[in-house]
Amino acid sequence: MPSYLYHSDPDTLVFETEIVDSRPGAVVLERSWLHPGGGGQVSDRAMLRHAGGTARITGIAVEEGRWWHLLDSEDRLDGRIEVGIDAEHRSLVSQLHTDSHILNAFVFRRFEGALVTGAQINADGTGRMDFDLPDFDNDRLRGLEEEINAAIRAGHPVEARYLPFEEARAAPGLIRSAAVAPPPTADGTVRIIDISGLDAQACGGTHLTNTAQSRPIRITKVENKGRHNRRVRFALD
Ligand SMILES: [Zn+2]
Repeated sequence: MPSYLYHSDPDTLVFETEIVDSRPGAVVLERSWLHPGGGGQVSDRAMLRHAGGTARITGIAVEEGRWWHLLDSEDRLDGRIEVGIDAEHRSLVSQLHTDSHILNAFVFRRFEGALVTGAQINADGTGRMDFDLPDFDNDRLRGLEEEINAAIRAGHPVEARYLPFEEARAAPGLIRSAAVAPPPTADGTVRIIDISGLDAQACGGTHLTNTAQSRPIRITKVENKGRHNRRVRFALD
C-alpha cells in the first residue's frame, strides 16, 4: 500500500491542511502531497497561502521522519493553510524522471545488464545518469537518443504497483541501483514503476502516466567518470 500521498494521489496539486509545527522559515504540515525529493530527484515547489498572506515552499528537509517544508519567509506561521504545488515544475521533473527510466531500460538491454551508479534530476530541465560500464564506446551511448525518443512517442502506459521487498530483490533487474533504490514503505513493500512493454524497476519518484506526455530528449554529453563510470547527461528538447 502506498504510504505517500504523492504516490496514491499524484493528481492532487492543491490541498488544504493545518500547520502542526513551525520554526522561523519552515513548517510541518498535518498532510502533504509534495514530493520531498530524494533518490536523485529534486523536491516539489509550492505556494502556501495562510491567513496573513503567502509564502513560497522552496524545498523539504526530512528530519527524523518529519517533513519540514522550507519557506522563503522567516515569519512563524500557524493555522489552516492552502498549498498549491507548482504544476509546471512537477511536470518537468516527471518528464525527465520517466525519460530516465527509458534511458536506463535501453542501457540495461543494450549493454548487458549495466547497473546504475547514480542519478540526478534537476529543476532546469536537465538530468544525468551514471552507469557501471567499463569498456564501451561513448558513441554507442549517444546513439540511444533516437530509440529513446521513439519509445517516448510510442505512448507506453506508465503504472505503479507494489511488491514485497524480498520478492522485488529476488526478481532480476527490478532493483538496479543501490544508490537510487527506494526504501521499503511502512508495510515492507517496494514501489515498482512499470513502463508497459519496456521496463519495470523500483522507484519512489514522480512519473508521467504515459510516455507520450514527455517532450523528446537530447543526450547532451557522455563523460567518463572513473574507470567504470559513464555519465550520460540529457535534457528535454
Ligand atoms: Zn522513477
